Amino acid sequence: MTPLYDLDQAIRKIRNYPKEGIVFFDITSILTNPEAFGYCVDRMVEIYKETGISAVAGIESRGFIFAAPLADRLGIPLILVRKAGKLPGETYHQDYELEYGKAAVEIHKTDVPQGGNVLLIDDLIATGGTLRAARSILEEGGAKVKNVFGVIGLPFLNFQEKLPGVEITTLINYENEEL
Ligand code: AMP
Repeated sequence: MTPLYDLDQAIRKIRNYPKEGIVFFDITSILTNPEAFGYCVDRMVEIYKETGISAVAGIESRGFIFAAPLADRLGIPLILVRKAGKLPGETYHQDYELEYGKAAVEIHKTDVPQGGNVLLIDDLIATGGTLRAARSILEEGGAKVKNVFGVIGLPFLNFQEKLPGVEITTLINYENEEL
């Protein structure tokens, strides 16, 4: 068992960034703290080592940082879910809505394991829109997405509604009234 660790004190919170009324959860303060980063990776390994996942997909760019060491520790492939226009090969593409504006994610078609069970990872799950878009292209390519992971979760933004039928795991959640 990974020893208990107070992850909250390792996360820098910046109020009114990037705009008024938003609390930005800055994971760079986890990355510069080896104990905190090691805790996150050890917990992910503990949670997913017996679940039969066949690949880990990380969302650009902060999701990459947590997905990569997990894929390495589990000895399974790492898939990059990138912002549109970055991947050189043939891709699956999904547009989605952000709070203000639009975005799109892509994956290489050849990276999707047919019938494989892919774990999707991001640093933080807010509305769940990014993960929903990533899930849709993995499933379009023939993979299954049964598990989604975020270091931080903001459940008051109702990300569960955008991700029906998947198990959503976070290491720490924040409620609206705590912000
Ligand atoms: P969403 O698609 O709404 O779940 O947004 C998730 C993405 O936006 C993640 O890649 C996060 O890194 C980023 N994000 C959203 N809200 C915050 C926040 N309050 N603090 C830090 N990152 C955030």
